[in-house]
Amino acid sequence: MLIDTHAHLNFRAYDNDREEVIKRCAQKGMAVVNVGAQYETSKSAAALALKNENFYATVGLHPIHAFDEPFDAAAYESLLNPKVVGIGECGLDYWWFKYLKEPYKIVLLHGWGGSKDERFFVWLDEELTKLGHTVLRFNFPETDSPNQEQWLKEIHKQVGYVNGKTLLVGFSLGGVSILRFLEGLDEDAAIAGSYLLGTPSTHMDYPELKDFFKTNFDWQHINTVCKNFNVYSSSNDEVVSAEHGQKLADKLNTKVKSIKDAWHFNLDKLPELLVNINEDVIACEKNLPTIEQVIAKQKEIFLKHIAFAQQHNLALMLHGRNGLEGRDVYAEMLEILKQEKVERAVFHCYGGTLAMAQQIAEAGYLIGIDGPLTFKKKSEELQQIAKEIPLENIVLETDAPYLTPEPHRGERNESIYVEFIAAKVAELKGLSKEEVIEQTWQNAKKLFKI
Ligand SMILES: [Zn+2]
Ligand SMILES: [Zn+2]
Repeated sequence: MLIDTHAHLNFRAYDNDREEVIKRCAQKGMAVVNVGAQYETSKSAAALALKNENFYATVGLHPIHAFDEPFDAAAYESLLNPKVVGIGECGLDYWWFKYLKEPYKIVLLHGWGGSKDERFFVWLDEELTKLGHTVLRFNFPETDSPNQEQWLKEIHKQVGYVNGKTLLVGFSLGGVSILRFLEGLDEDAAIAGSYLLGTPSTHMDYPELKDFFKTNFDWQHINTVCKNFNVYSSSNDEVVSAEHGQKLADKLNTKVKSIKDAWHFNLDKLPELLVNINEDVIACEKNLPTIEQVIAKQKEIFLKHIAFAQQHNLALMLHGRNGLEGRDVYAEMLEILKQEKVERAVFHCYGGTLAMAQQIAEAGYLIGIDGPLTFKKKSEELQQIAKEIPLENIVLETDAPYLTPEPHRGERNESIYVEFIAAKVAELKGLSKEEVIEQTWQNAKKLFKI
């Protein structure tokens, strides 16, 4: 049976069409292991497994979330059901440190009929750039007759990934776009701050903007993705009244920052906003842990997962990612596995060297291979690994919604595409696709005891 041993169909990327995605898996007669990365996504992975035939789950706390929430073993225990077959994703993520060094990304979003140069935007860009931040501002398409879908697409395209170093500044409809953008992000996006100026909290009876208000805001989710909202209103704003600011602030658990006589923020400069952003950045910097603290914390949580796996006789769904000069995360994880006498584990989305993969296979652990195997560029080492490592030590996975294989690269990933990875492994090993699918299914069965 075809099996995708690592997917996140439990993530928000599938909220609009999860049932159809699951149906496509059923039509293919395939199995899927959905993986949790935090408590909430672990809970949803476990629930999906219970509900769907051939669906399984693992539960755990991803190392990039080491500082976001505790690993509460009792809480995770309560999620176990007969179809929870592993714990994780857990392990060490040194790529995370790149994030410590990257500049803050501050995005300025203009309003209806406006442009990237409107109001205080040019001034704010200059000031923030002087401080070493990366500032992004761009024109929305058809700014006079705005379309929500197009605007959101533009934000995704221009902004790319977001994280704890992303700050969003939106004026008027740009502020509404921020709220809509946040609604669509995964729970774990955790952006550093949002600044909404002259932003309406509800539809204001402009037919042109109806599109932006056709559904109610998911305030709960918005407040999960961003925990630092700053709402600005002006005492004499005749377009979006101060009352709107008040309502918005209530929904976002914050207080209004009122600017006197700013009209609809028709200002060339807004020093209050600059000070506000600077203070938030300083607070963020203070909260950033050191490299030593991060590694210690990740290791502590990893060991807790191993203890949990042994106590409940579960496989370990390992996540490792390199990113620190002179250190090999896979070697360090392998060492820990040996020390702790772990029996069943898979290095999901393996990204290490061939030599290390050989050591992992020799120690009896499995290697998860993903979509990048099918990429035309920069996949030589991974292809070498797929070729050289015994098929008995390989499982196939999508890591959906990420890492979409060719020929669907660039789209959202889904579990059925694991077949393209099977085909590539077969090609590299000179086997039939069916042989690869059968052997990797046997490997997964043994790994997860299913
Ligand atoms: Zn991972
Ligand atoms: Zn994953």
